[in-house]
Amino acid sequence: MKSYCLEAMDAAKALGAGYADVRIIDYRREAVALRNGCPCNLTSSQSLGAGIRVLVNGAWGFASTNQVSTASLKETAAKAVAIARASAQVKKQDVKLAPKPAVEDFWGTPFTIDPFRVSLEEKLGLLSRIDAVLRKKPEVKVASSAMQFAREKQWYMDSDGSFIVQDLLRSGAGFSATAVGGGEVQIRSYPQSWGGNHKAMGYEIVTAYDLLGNAERIRDEAVALLTAPECPSGKKDLILDGPQLALQIHESVGHPNELDRVLGFEANYAGRSFMVPELHRTGFQYGSEIVNLVADCTVPGGLATFGYDDDGVRAERFHVVQNGIHRNWFTTRETAPLVGLERSNGCNRADGFNNIPITRIPNLSLMPGSWTYDDLIADTRDGIIMEVNKSWSIDQMRRNFQFGCEIGRVVKNGRITGIVRNPNYQGDTPVFWGNCDAICNQDYWDLWGVINCGKGQPGQTAEMSHGGAPTRFRNVEVGIRG
Ligand SMILES: [Zn+2]
Repeated sequence: MKSYCLEAMDAAKALGAGYADVRIIDYRREAVALRNGCPCNLTSSQSLGAGIRVLVNGAWGFASTNQVSTASLKETAAKAVAIARASAQVKKQDVKLAPKPAVEDFWGTPFTIDPFRVSLEEKLGLLSRIDAVLRKKPEVKVASSAMQFAREKQWYMDSDGSFIVQDLLRSGAGFSATAVGGGEVQIRSYPQSWGGNHKAMGYEIVTAYDLLGNAERIRDEAVALLTAPECPSGKKDLILDGPQLALQIHESVGHPNELDRVLGFEANYAGRSFMVPELHRTGFQYGSEIVNLVADCTVPGGLATFGYDDDGVRAERFHVVQNGIHRNWFTTRETAPLVGLERSNGCNRADGFNNIPITRIPNLSLMPGSWTYDDLIADTRDGIIMEVNKSWSIDQMRRNFQFGCEIGRVVKNGRITGIVRNPNYQGDTPVFWGNCDAICNQDYWDLWGVINCGKGQPGQTAEMSHGGAPTRFRNVEVGIRG
């Protein structure tokens, strides 16, 4: 593959590219899903291709091919250069890339069990046992369980002297029970909604969450929600579990800190951002003093954990919010210099070989605090715990949001007194994070994967993880009706 990369580089440079990079990607995916005892999705796919990105006269061109051959790579390089020449005629300013060191390196996801070597019988067998437990109660009308695996081998080379090989592995599993009765439909999922939890690891994720051991509890909670009272309305103390906190971080801290959105280059899907450079310069208070939100593409298990991003910039760890104060954006080699930064912090990623890299949310986590869960409950007078995301909505500037969760647990005078259905809450990003007053410790902290973050035109999907432990926010509007 290295010789193919060299051929693509040589072709692009010979045609006049001032900068060029090539990514050859061999992508293998497998999905196994069961619905009410029947396999509803058994897919295995593999793709191989190359994407070439060039700068000519200060403008980008990109082209891709699913034929990794000398002839095809030369043709693709020529296409990318032609597109760049055309783009240069309408450019507003020259693209200037922040410097970075040239490296030759290999990076691979650490794992114990290769999921592609585990038999389909074993995977379906476990899902069938879970399915049987979920459907033991007649109120459960839909039992869904699934596993997904992806292996992405990348060969990257750029004209700034880097050649990087990466072997990334992602695995995920989970299930849900949908109960119907008395005009109500209620769902419970484990370990989180939207297909389970996913991490950069091997098949060992399946045993790590004891899926079968939790099936009975999740099923019974779905059924109990059918007759549970509605979530009360008013201002309460809100405790979010890890999976819901992950989406809260994703939507109200992740997207608003993508520098392309901040600068107005990007407004698809998720809109723009309230977080503008002027706010950053004045030391914007994003949250309370205990709020430390850390981007980390080196954290073990993160879906965005890798050696290098698609600019060939080494993965790093940095604060987005430190002791409540805004510190950093997510940048690329192209966007970092636009706000006076000397170097990129490695957030440029592409979906497969056939897309150009764009600014992406990295792994982004709320650092753990010092509380035990029991102490946190004991310290709460009038609150609601909300677990596992069910719905979300956030405005185009990423300030006003409303989230719905699968289950609420009422806390009165330091004790959990019962469950409520259809719990939801709303808030304003800096006010909400400003009311964060207690975070559980490392023992309760985990990484929660997002596998479907959509962005760009044409649309691209990216994966990242958000870490968090149960966290309390004071004085939050809950139980919004209508
Ligand atoms: Zn997203």
